[in-house]
Amino acid sequence: MATLQHALLVEDSPTQALLILAELEKLSGVKVEHAVSLAAALEAISKIRFDVVFLDLTLPDSVGGETVQRFCGAAPELAVVVLTNHDDDAQAIQALEQGAQDYMLKARIDAASLSRSLRYSIHRKRAEILVREARDEALEANRQLERRMRQINCLYGVSRTLESPELPLQVAMEEAVTLIPSAWLRPETIGVRLTCLNGLLPGGYVQTKGFEETPWRLEAQVFAGSHPAGRIEICWPESRPAEGSEAFASSERELVRELARRVGQALERACVQKELVQLATTDFLTEAHNRRYFLQAVGAEIQRAGRYGRPMTLLMLDIDFFKRVNDERGHAAGDEALKAFVVLARDVLRDQDIIGRMGGEEFAVALPEAILEAGMVVAERLRVRLSQLDIPVGGGAPLRLTVSIGVAECKIKDGEGLEACLSRADAALYRAKALGRNRVELAE
Ligand code: GH3
Ligand code: MG
Ligand code: MG
Repeated sequence: MATLQHALLVEDSPTQALLILAELEKLSGVKVEHAVSLAAALEAISKIRFDVVFLDLTLPDSVGGETVQRFCGAAPELAVVVLTNHDDDAQAIQALEQGAQDYMLKARIDAASLSRSLRYSIHRKRAEILVREARDEALEANRQLERRMRQINCLYGVSRTLESPELPLQVAMEEAVTLIPSAWLRPETIGVRLTCLNGLLPGGYVQTKGFEETPWRLEAQVFAGSHPAGRIEICWPESRPAEGSEAFASSERELVRELARRVGQALERACVQKELVQLATTDFLTEAHNRRYFLQAVGAEIQRAGRYGRPMTLLMLDIDFFKRVNDERGHAAGDEALKAFVVLARDVLRDQDIIGRMGGEEFAVALPEAILEAGMVVAERLRVRLSQLDIPVGGGAPLRLTVSIGVAECKIKDGEGLEACLSRADAALYRAKALGRNRVELAE
């Protein structure tokens, strides 16, 4: 098919130009322009879209390899045929390396060789462009793939860390935060901060070293179930190169949202875990420890005391005539009274003392580091303070309660265990009841 080809001859010598133009005119379907300097040639290609250029290397404003270099630099899409005067192979090969498609010796130019070179160089240039485009596409696909790999590795690492059962939540979150920068190319400069709203992280947030808030940031909200639970912020120290019109690729935005989802799941699990522990160890009404946890915790404390030769004293407490409270003031008032008793006991006791509700209106207290006399002092204080306490309950005057208490020091040296010691305290409590209630009795 004979489409019109547009050729440019760049030749400063008038005689040679005349000869070559004469040959070129013999070719059908080729339109020819003529320039006499590199500057004029560059000017011409900026105005007209040529298919091929016949380029003399020795021009008034540029000579030799420099001519090829400057011309191909300015017109990378254009097929170039270099015209040489002598049979100079070295120069011809250099021209090809610099981007020319073909070369011709001026002495041998005729219409046939021009026609062949014209078609050959245009064809070759097109092939070159296709190869370059394919290579660029492959490189870009490779870059995308590498980025996805880094992102997937990051997600995998973060998930593993957050799901690892032996790590405390705080440590897991700290590790997860330091893994996140690896999803991007320059990890050392990217700052990550994870803020947590629900009190599961002691300081409220974890962040990478030297975290700085910058305007170049990606951010996502963290939800635990449907509750807002915090946010992830990722900050770059300097402006991001634009991806299309956006500063961040959609895969990057998706990555941050996915990270936020996984952190949210970890927080939700931690909340559930915390609630389960609470449920399993705490009495629902009074928030004292439940019987099971009390026995387990105090059993361990007594073993510790045994190892280190430290004392341990136990109290058994039972509120006096409690049935009457229910009968006279109602069950709800009884509940309020039980809660008030535990609040008072916590106020009297030290932090390391352990209080458990053993059932109904019956409580036990463990006093680590206390000998019998110290235990008696604590029991007396509890008894007196309760007897003086006005307990506000709905529907009527405040309640007054008393308590009977049995005290037993654990015979650590004799290897006495928790059960045996508790039953001695219980026997003392029974005696306190029998002797008239609102009193403290020491175990034998
Ligand atoms: P005593 O001085 O001999 O200990 O007399 P008491 O009435 O305290 O002893 P008793 O064991 O006869 O009665 C205990 C009462 O505590 C019976 C029960 O209804 C009440 N009680 C147990 N648990 C709860 C509770 O969770 N809430 C309320 N309101 N009452 C409770
Ligand atoms: Mg009782
Ligand atoms: Mg009672």
